[in-house]
Amino acid sequence: LVSRENHDSRTVVSVRGVPIGGDNMTVIAGPCAVETPEQTLEAARMALAGGASLLRGGAYKPRTSPYAFQGLGEQGLKILADVREETGMPIVTEVVDAADVELVASYADMLQVGTRNMQNFALLQAVGDAGKPVLLKRGMSATIEEWLMAAEYIAQRGNLDIVLCERGIRTFEKATRNTLDISAVPVAQNLSHLPVIVDPSHSGGKRDLVLPLSRAAIAVGADGIIVDVHPTPEEALCDGPQALLEGDLAELRDLSATLATLS
Ligand code: PEP
Repeated sequence: LVSRENHDSRTVVSVRGVPIGGDNMTVIAGPCAVETPEQTLEAARMALAGGASLLRGGAYKPRTSPYAFQGLGEQGLKILADVREETGMPIVTEVVDAADVELVASYADMLQVGTRNMQNFALLQAVGDAGKPVLLKRGMSATIEEWLMAAEYIAQRGNLDIVLCERGIRTFEKATRNTLDISAVPVAQNLSHLPVIVDPSHSGGKRDLVLPLSRAAIAVGADGIIVDVHPTPEEALCDGPQALLEGDLAELRDLSATLATLS
């Protein structure tokens, strides 16, 4: 279902009217985690200033450590909905458990499946049934074929509004959190009709790498990028070191403009 073979044209996924794929280039930005109404609104303002058309933000956080901030849950979803009301930005947010899909889908415009859940087949089927576009991150140890098979689980439920997201894979290299597999973008685009975007924040894990990796994503022909921004990263409850700062937004906006010119 997601293979390019039986599709003449590339899929364009509409997230509350914002297109991803085809001739469009889309920037998604926002905080890694929703922490407070003020922080989320300020991050949305930063995302807009950086040229983003969709707001990201996690209310349910899949953390490696059970002692780390796990997200605000439904309270975080309510904050996102309020910020959407205020800014007009549609929201992309992660769901980590099949049991929560209905609730998260009642707030979200796009459901994110994170790297750790790429092969959580019950979750994939549940998001496939939810009637919302899905952002499917590549498992950090998954082959491209496994990633596409995960997308197939969603598609099988009648939902072809799927965007693939390369977010770095595990390698022997320790200088970056994960290794951005830039070649996965054209490979997945050749194999599948689905849009493919890149997450330079979670792959590099460091602020200094986000804009260079974004440029690489644009150069390789990605359909968009998803980046973390935070008004006060030093106080962030999750992944502060990779969040772009106010001072980075002009360059992000230029990159977004480049994306628009290329489209
Ligand atoms: C995220 O985007 O918030 C996230 C946790 O990403 P990943 O699943 O790629 O680690």
